[in-house]
Parts: sequence; structure tokens; C-alpha cells
Amino acid sequence: MSSCVMNTYARLPVAFVRGEGAQLWDAQENQYLDALSGIAVCNLGHAHPAVSQAISEQAACLVHTSNLYQIPLQQELARKLCELSGMDAVFFANSGAEANEAALKIARLHGHQKGYSHPQIIALHKSFHGRTLNTLSATGNPVIQEGFTPLVSGFHHVDYNDIDALQQKIAQTDQLTAIMVEPVQGEGGVNIPAKDYLQRIRALCDQHDLFMIVDEVQTGMCRTGQWFAFQHESIMPDIMTLAKGLGNGVPIGACLARGKAAEVFSPGKHGSTFGGNPLVCAAALAVINTMQESQINQRVQQLADFFTTQFQQKLQYNVHVKAIRIYGLMIGIELDRACVELVEKALRQRLLLNVTAGNVIRLLPPLIINDQQAQTIVDTVTALIEEFYL
Ligand code: PLP
Repeated sequence: MSSCVMNTYARLPVAFVRGEGAQLWDAQENQYLDALSGIAVCNLGHAHPAVSQAISEQAACLVHTSNLYQIPLQQELARKLCELSGMDAVFFANSGAEANEAALKIARLHGHQKGYSHPQIIALHKSFHGRTLNTLSATGNPVIQEGFTPLVSGFHHVDYNDIDALQQKIAQTDQLTAIMVEPVQGEGGVNIPAKDYLQRIRALCDQHDLFMIVDEVQTGMCRTGQWFAFQHESIMPDIMTLAKGLGNGVPIGACLARGKAAEVFSPGKHGSTFGGNPLVCAAALAVINTMQESQINQRVQQLADFFTTQFQQKLQYNVHVKAIRIYGLMIGIELDRACVELVEKALRQRLLLNVTAGNVIRLLPPLIINDQQAQTIVDTVTALIEEFYL
């Protein structure tokens, strides 16, 4: 079928018409188990009653007014996010890339306020920060950047989880203003750094007067068993970005800042027509309340333990499995060769999963899956891997 939609995605041959919890249905009433959550978005599952109700009530009342006026729901959401994170102020955007765009603009503007003519930022190899020109320039992946030169200047990249390389780069770089890091690299292959990695970056930022930007677009909103993954390491970033799970599918992004970083912007320096409108804020508030009431982080830890034990037991002696990386409900199973075809094979088994970095099976199940669904995911993925090597 010819399509009027631009050719930016190699889509799978399935369309879903309905969802409930971790389940989706196509028009033929075939039922699928979702182990991807729309790429870490529908953390509370599909059509969560509290979120659906908040959206429909708000839609029937007021959707949008613009940021020219006061938006009490935006104020409430900002206050809530600051309470949960310890940050001081929030800028609302509509996606992860835009949240990062705001973070990068804060860093640059701060550099100029310090008198730098060319503020510089260090990011990490294998990172992913979005598809706008600025965020793809920050992204440490040549495949994402290919065809889009000239890139935005002022970015430097070093290996993830390599503090020595970072130290060296800091020493070599004039007018440095910030370091940008994902607590776990999602798109890059579910790469989990050393336990004190964020702490050490924090210390370097303090030592060299740099902003620490933590991209929690994928790791935030309880995905790793804390509200935000930086909380596992008891540090505070200067800037943190969110999107994905914040609206459970309603497009919302947020850039949170603290201390000096929260005071960099002034009217006219940044903006967004839609950002933080009443509809998306009502949805995000419902998401937060639901997560709080259900103590979802405890459940995430429990499920993470389950997946760790099960996958270790079933896969650790498989010579083709190079690594099993699990952090909360971010699960990566690295195979010894490219395995993209597993996505379609899983689809035929009515399981939605993803392959990233070419050879890493990535699972990002909704945080509300039940024990039986978790077991089905383990059994199906294990069988798929075994079959793949027959
Ligand atoms: N940052 C991280 C860590 C991400 O994983 C993503 C998306 O996968 C983004 C930023 C970009 O978010 P969006 O696609 O909402 O622009």
C-alpha cells in the first residue's frame, strides 16, 4: 500500500486497535503481550483507567491556552516533579529531544553568561539524546548523525563508563560548560555503568564548575525502580530531562534544573507553544499519583529480581549469550551476532520486543505486568533465542 506518511520508520506489519494493561489487540482480535511499552512510554500499561479518566475529563474541560497565561495544572505538576526529584524548576516541552534541547540551551546560555564565546559540552559514545540537529549532535552515534552535517558544534565525546577518558577530555577542553550522560544507555544497548559512575561525574562537575546533565528520558518515571535513576547513586544533577513515561503516551517532556541552572533562562530565551498545556499536565499528574499510590518502585525491584534470576538460570550456559544486563525493568540480552529478525519472530509469537545496537534483545515491559506475563516473556524470549541458534 502506498503511504502519505514520510518514510522514516521500517514498520512491522501490524496495527493495534485497542490496549489494556500489558496487552494489545489488532483489528482481527489477535492478542499480543507488550514487552516494550511503546519504547518505555506506557509504564502504567495501555488505557490505564486513572490516566484515561484524567485525559477525558480534562479534554472535556480545557485542552490548551498557551504559555502566555497562567496554567495552574502546570504549576502543580512542576511542584510535584520538584518534590520527587529535589530539583528547583521545570520547563515543559513535548518530547525527549525537546527536553534535551532545553537542557543544552541552558548549558550554552550559562557558558555565555560566564563570558565564554564558544561553550563546549562533553557527551558519551553510544549515547542517544534525540533527533533534532542539536540533540543528534550530542548523540554519540555516527549512524544517527550520517547525512546531517554540518552538525551543531561544541560537542565532544568520550567512551561511556570511562572516567579516565572523561578526565582527560575535561583537561583538554576550553570553555567547557557541561557533561551530559544517560544513567543507563537505552538505545545504545542497555549499557549499565559502574556503580559509582554518576557519583564520579558529579565530583568532576563540582571540581570543574560544570553542569551535570542527566538524560532520564528513558530511565525516569520508575523504569529502574526509583523515580529517577540518579537516585540510585544519591547524587543530584544540575539538569535532568524527562519524557516517555511521564505522560504514559501523551506527548510531554520536561527539563528540570537546580540551583544556578534553574536561573539561567529568562523570558524570551526559550519557549514552546504546546509545552505543559492543561491536557498533558492532567495526564502526567494522574501518572504520578497512580505510581505513588501503587508503590510501583517496589514492584519494579521485585520484577527486576525475577527477570534476573530467570534469565540467568535459563541463559547463562548458552554460549551465544554474551551478556544479560538488567537494571530495573530495562533488560538487555546481548547475543554473539546480529539478531534484528527476532523482532518479527517474536511478533509471530504475539510478543512485542525490540533489538537495539544490532545484537541486543531489549525488553522494556510495562511496570504493571503480572507474574504470569513476566513468566511468558521469559519463556518466549528464551525459546526464541534457542530456536535462533538451531
Ligand atoms: N533521550 C533518551 C535517553 C532516549 O532514549 C530518547 C528516545 O529514545 C530520547 C532522548 C529522545 O526522545 P524523543 O523520541 O521523545 O524525542
